[in-house]
Amino acid sequence: MNPSISRRTALVSALFMASPLRAFADEIDRRVGLPEASAVQAAEFEARAWRPAPSSVEIPILLYHHVVPDHAQGVLYVTPDGFEQHLRYLRDNGYQSVSFGDLADGLEYGAPLPERPVILSFDDGWENQYQHAFPLLQKYGFTGTFYVVSGYIDHQNFMTTEQLKTMMAAGMVIGGHSHTHPALAGAGSARLHDEVASSKAWLEDRLGVAIDSFAYPYGSYSASTVAAVKAAGYRTARTVDTSTQARADSLALLPAVLYSQYVNHYRGNVELASR
Ligand SMILES: [Zn+2]
Repeated sequence: MNPSISRRTALVSALFMASPLRAFADEIDRRVGLPEASAVQAAEFEARAWRPAPSSVEIPILLYHHVVPDHAQGVLYVTPDGFEQHLRYLRDNGYQSVSFGDLADGLEYGAPLPERPVILSFDDGWENQYQHAFPLLQKYGFTGTFYVVSGYIDHQNFMTTEQLKTMMAAGMVIGGHSHTHPALAGAGSARLHDEVASSKAWLEDRLGVAIDSFAYPYGSYSASTVAAVKAAGYRTARTVDTSTQARADSLALLPAVLYSQYVNHYRGNVELASR
């Protein structure tokens, strides 16, 4: 079973168990003043394990494209050496990687997140991510989310189905990034269905797992794009809107940040939040 599905099921059932138990404990409290039965104490302990869900979480959702040794300048490129420096900084400063599913569990159910959570996300499914980013993520004990364009898989310069399965077996997460990488803000309903819902079904069939997260190509979205993403059953979606605040009421419009932006402008927020 997909680990994110089983984790979510466990969370839901724990909540289901906790709330009647807590109601029972409150009822005993009201009637007799003090609970004496150990079952009530156990129930309260159970209930305390689930904190109220926060309305937002400070978290850098880092955004990467190409990870290649020789490259043009620009925000779409990082060298493996440069990427390793990022990972070393994160490790040495106590950051722990989570998935978008973990973040949603935290925002929807109050599931515990690490003190300093980080998401590493990679767009487009470039083969150089498999060659250069994947081994470094493993070396430093981080997981990443790879947003792949379903129509590019098994094509030159892009990852193969087997490579995606190898990464999944090592704990990496695959997300959807449309079928042909159009700007979706102006797309009509038939096109949206192909790029969002059909692409999700195609990926799930090809990879044998639920695809729960989406990234908007070019960061382009409109109200109808967001509605199509939700209707297709994606639990979370990532934009390229720059922020480090993930909001519970905006799981379909999660922000992203470049590493350089993060260390220069935002890391104080996360480091303060975890004090
Ligand atoms: Zn893209």
